[in-house]
Amino acid sequence: MKKILLLLITSVVCRSAYCWGFYAHRQINNYAVFLLPPEMMLLYKPNIDFLTEHAVDPDKRRYAVAEEGPRHYIDIDHYGTYPYPGLPRKWNEAVQKFSRDSLMQYGIVPWHVQVMLNRLTAAFREKNFSRIMKTSAELGHYIADAHVPLHANSNHNGQLSNQHGIHGFWESRVPELLAEKEFDFFIGKAQYISDPGKYIWDRVLESALASDSVLRFEKELSERFPPDGKYAFEARNGVIVRQYSSAFTIAFDRKLNGMVERRMRLAIASVASFWFTAWVNAGQPDLKELAGQKFSEADAREFEALNLKWKNSAGHMIGREE
Ligand SMILES: [Zn+2]
Repeated sequence: MKKILLLLITSVVCRSAYCWGFYAHRQINNYAVFLLPPEMMLLYKPNIDFLTEHAVDPDKRRYAVAEEGPRHYIDIDHYGTYPYPGLPRKWNEAVQKFSRDSLMQYGIVPWHVQVMLNRLTAAFREKNFSRIMKTSAELGHYIADAHVPLHANSNHNGQLSNQHGIHGFWESRVPELLAEKEFDFFIGKAQYISDPGKYIWDRVLESALASDSVLRFEKELSERFPPDGKYAFEARNGVIVRQYSSAFTIAFDRKLNGMVERRMRLAIASVASFWFTAWVNAGQPDLKELAGQKFSEADAREFEALNLKWKNSAGHMIGREE
């Protein structure tokens, strides 16, 4: 019985270990809508539930498609030490130096964000409602991932330093416990990004730099916390699971001095700014006529197929697990 219970608990904990957690991804896309100018708001606000819900589609796809995984991270420490001058920021130059296969192996998030930005710009030019919405939701996901420190470190789940679980701890447990009660999401307005490549690389470099503190602080705190105080059986989405205790989570957040909130706020601002930039680069098309449009039956089938694949995956990601 004990074994079954433990298995059940482990599977719940594993399922929860997604990038930024489903909770934070949804929040980030949701808040980003309110930073948009009125000309965009008239399309994005009526579709805010879609943008919120589909913020997690790229993570669901990690259970169905092999090429999906590398789009969510970059193990940048593979390329030397900060600020990694040996790694060309331009895709073609990086391919020439390291080969496409090798880049795929260590993750491509800063490049994939730019691919998605181009797709969104094209969707705006075509005034294609469905493509604008789907690409906005998914672009928001990859941008948010680029803001997570452990998405820019090969020790992404503390697997090399006996800190297994730290990935979901930073990006799921902390925001789920504290975002609603303590985080401030009054952020301002979307800004035009004149050099999106440089912008997203800067965020990734910040993440890489911060990842060392994330790993170090958790280790220091674990050493000073009583062994039975680090984990506790507490409620998560209405289910009692063994997870990092509230006390340990709050102590970690304090030690990070608000880093999770700062990164989440910046992720929201970045998502809105990328959406805005795509629209401006497409020539600021009038979105009024798109505001009342609906998704097609083919779209609905596509969403359903992704959901089914994800649900039937039994919690096994293709490629690297977190
Ligand atoms: Zn992700």
